Order: sequence, then C-alpha cells, then structure tokens
Amino acid sequence: MTELPKFNAYINGEWVAPSDGRYFETVNPYTAEVWAQVARCTPEDANRAVEAAHTALTRGEWSKLNATQRGALVHRLGDLIKEHAQELAEYEVRDNGKLINEMLAQCNYLPQWFYYYGGLADKIEGAVIPIDKPDVFNFTRHEPIGVVAAITPWNSPLLLLSFKLAPALAAGCTLVIKPSEFTSTSTLKLMELVEKAGFPPGVVNVVTGFGAEAGAALVEHPKVAKVAFTGGTESGAYVYQQAAKTLKRCTLELGGKSPNIVFDDAVLDDAIKGVISGIFAATGQTCIAGSRLLVQEGIYDEFVTRLVDFARSARMGNPLDPNTQVGPVTTPQQYDKILKYIAVAKDEGAEVLLGGGPASGPECGNSKWFVQPTIFGGVHNKMRIAQEEVFGPVLSIIRFKTDEEAVEIANDIAFGLAAGVWTQSIKRALTISNAIRAGTIWVNTYRSISYMSPFGGYKMSGLGRENGIEGMKEYLQTKSVWISTATDVPNPFVMR
Ligand code: NDP
Repeated sequence: MTELPKFNAYINGEWVAPSDGRYFETVNPYTAEVWAQVARCTPEDANRAVEAAHTALTRGEWSKLNATQRGALVHRLGDLIKEHAQELAEYEVRDNGKLINEMLAQCNYLPQWFYYYGGLADKIEGAVIPIDKPDVFNFTRHEPIGVVAAITPWNSPLLLLSFKLAPALAAGCTLVIKPSEFTSTSTLKLMELVEKAGFPPGVVNVVTGFGAEAGAALVEHPKVAKVAFTGGTESGAYVYQQAAKTLKRCTLELGGKSPNIVFDDAVLDDAIKGVISGIFAATGQTCIAGSRLLVQEGIYDEFVTRLVDFARSARMGNPLDPNTQVGPVTTPQQYDKILKYIAVAKDEGAEVLLGGGPASGPECGNSKWFVQPTIFGGVHNKMRIAQEEVFGPVLSIIRFKTDEEAVEIANDIAFGLAAGVWTQSIKRALTISNAIRAGTIWVNTYRSISYMSPFGGYKMSGLGRENGIEGMKEYLQTKSVWISTATDVPNPFVMR
C-alpha cells in the first residue's frame, strides 16, 4: 500500500512533527478517500509557535526591516501565489470539495491582497498633533499590534487567510495560523511560498490540528495580542470570551442569514442569476449566502417559477470538472446539519419547491455528501429555517408587500453580514441599502468581494472589518509620543 502524504506543522521556519507524534487524516469530499495525514499539533506546539512569532516580532530580523522592505516581501509573496495559483487551487478542492472554477478564481485573485497591502505598508503615517500645551512636541505612531493568531475555516481557506495575512504582515505583525482541521494542506503549501519569498523564520507559523487543542492554546496564550477569526458564530463568541481573559483584540467574521430582496421593478433575469449565485454557488457553504429570498407580491409567482426552473438545471458532479456547478458538502458534520435543517423546515410547514434531501447518482462519484439544491416556499420569517444559518444549498422564500415590510423582515434577525437588493429605482436602492443593518449591501449584484472594500458584520455576524484601509488598521495600535522642550521644571504635584 502506498503511504499517504504527510504534512507537518511550520514553526520558526522549519517543518516539524507534532510534539506527541500524532497525525489526523484528511478526506477528499468527492472521492470520500483519505488522501493525506496532517500533524495534530498540541498546545505545546502552539506555544512553541507563539514563542517563535514573539521572538521574530521583538528581536528578529523582521523587527529591523523598514516598512518598504516589509512591503516588498509581501509583494513578492503575491507574485509567488500568482505563479502557483493552479496548484494551490487543486489543494483546496482536494480538501474542501469546492469547484475548481471557484477555487481557481479565488487563488488567481489572492495576489491582489498582497500587492495592495504590500503597497500600503509604507504609507501608514502618524500625525503631528497641534497640542494645546506650551513647549511640547506631540506626535503619533502606528505600530504593529503584535503576534496575531489567525484562525480560519474550511470554506475558502486561502481567501479568508489572505484577508488576515496580507494586512498583518504589512503592518509588521507576526502570525501563528490555525487552519480548519478539514482544510489544512493549502495553508501549508502557502508556507512553502512564504519561505521562498524570504520571510525570516518565525514571522509566519502554522499549527494544524483541532480548534479545542491547538486553536484554544493560541487564543489563551498571553503573548498573542490579537485573534483574527473566521468561522461559526457560536465558536466565534466562545473564542471572544476566552480572548477577553488576556484582553486580546479580536476581529470576528462570523455567520449570516442574508436577505436577498427582489422588488417588483427588478430585471428578473439578473435577479434570478443573483439569487442562484447567492445560495447555490459554493454549495451554499459561504457566510454571505443569500439564504433568505424576499420576493415582492406582484412578481412572486412568475419569479419563483422561473427561479426553480433555473435551479433545477444546476449540474452536480466532480468539483474538478469545470462544467460542474454544485459539488459535495465539505464535511460529514455539515452534511448532517444541512439535512437536519431540511427536516426542520418540513416540520415547520415550509413547502418543498425543489430538492429537499440527499442527492445520489453517478455524478456524485463515491461521495456520500451531496445534497440536492433545495428551495422552500411559504416560509415566514419567524421559522427556524428563516432565522438560523444552514450553510448549505437551501433557500427559503418569503413573500412581502411593501418596501417597509421588506426592511422589517430583512432586519428581523440576529445576523447582519450582507444583503442583496434588486431594483431599477435609484431612490429605492439607496433607501433600502441605508435601512438594512448589515455590513455589505449589494444592489443588482451579489457575492462581490474586493481587497479594497471593507468587509465585516453587524450584530451577531461579527466584529471589526477586513479588507481595505480599515482592514489594515485592525493590525495597528497608536502610540502618542510627548517630547518636552521646556526649560523650567513644572510643579510635580499638578498634572501638566
Ligand atoms: P468553526 O467556527 O467551528 O471553526 C472555525 C475555525 O475555528 C476552525 O479552524 C476551528 O478549528 C477553529 N476553532 C473552533 N473552536 C475553537 C476554539 N475553541 N478555539 C480556537 N479555535 C477554534 O467552524 P466549523 O468549521 O466547525 O463550521 C461550523 C459552522 O460554522 C458551519 O456550519 C457554518 O455555519 C459556520 N462557518 C462559517 C464560516 C464563515 O465564513 N463565516 C466558515 C465556516 C463555517 P477546527 O476546524 O479544528 O474545529
């Protein structure tokens, strides 16, 4: 029997076996085969990685680089990702079963994060404060926040890591990354490029393994200054609580139940494609899924009929086949969760308009984790299927009459990550966008992300922003420096 490829952790510039020698298996969701073994890092490994990152931050070569030199390294990493995009995308597909088209598009786009933040590295300027006191020169500096624990999920491992890695490095931070246990290998392949780009040892480290072991050790470590987390809301809230014990900064990109609102003046063909991309792309496994479809009364019947017809033609199959449109679910746990929610929706009285169960057939290969693209009609917003994140190809349709009612339904939810608005009226587009409590609003488009534009959640969808200049600020802290030029000695018992 051929031995499976074995992936070690990356700590202080070296590929290291886990301290207790244990590995876990990683499975290809389409072939259902174990294809690699990955280091199950212990808290001890996590501690070593944090120490390496802390040394690199405070005493190593990295700490002596100026911002331009740092930016050049970040840019160089972007170039290497560009050269290796196809290979990285294939690792992602093998791990998470998402479409090669989608993962390749993401990997081809990743270099932009490194070019943007690489360029920004030496444009972060402090200010000279026109201070109100005599004989004092006061200025500010924006300094790296410190060691960052970057904790990433399985749905878009490298994209969501790049949201963190590029600005953190440009800001001068060092990192320890803990990828999802389901999708560790693309992050480890990326470390080969980090090494090749010439980052000094300890600047970027990866500990693979489980959230409750390696992940928790990072969140608790006193030398970690910030946690940058993407994942589920429940885990995010727990991580936030744990991080509070050592007063860490946190950015949390969490779940969503985003409304996609189609008004009666929308271009229906465009809206149908937008709704499909919002819920069936990536097999619905995306935090920004437009999983609540709100359709205005006058167009409801026509729109829903055409939408269901379009969705029925979605091609399931091998994610490595460029013609496939819907692939398998990434993990068995997620597959069970989706089927559980389909059952919940049926129990609640939602009407199955399409799908509604597991999928099987030759197009599913050996995978046991295909779910039919599913559409529920007759949903009202208080149902669990309308309120809770499914993270799968399951759409709930809610009917509304007026603009005010649409806003009320859209906002009547604990989440606030994103929303879609489909209308030809500028007035309506602006009024509705302003009224919806969510971090991203797309008008006549859906699922657009850029390195330039801030991304993050309102309410239970998260804290802080990634991307854009705001994304860089999350990795900096401000120091105020006071220099006295006074010749007299002030009264020490009075505040100056
Ligand atoms: P989790 O939120 O559980 O995991 C995200 C990351 O956090 C993983 O690397 C995980 O490690 C790690 N983690 C989990 N618990 C801790 C902890 N206590 N301390 C430190 N790190 C921790 O997401 P899952 O991957 O389990 O998916 C569960 C649900 O989360 C999905 O059903 C979906 O609803 C949602 N989700 C949301 C995403 C988004 O983009 N907003 C992305 C992915 C999932 P490990 O994998 O080892 O548990």
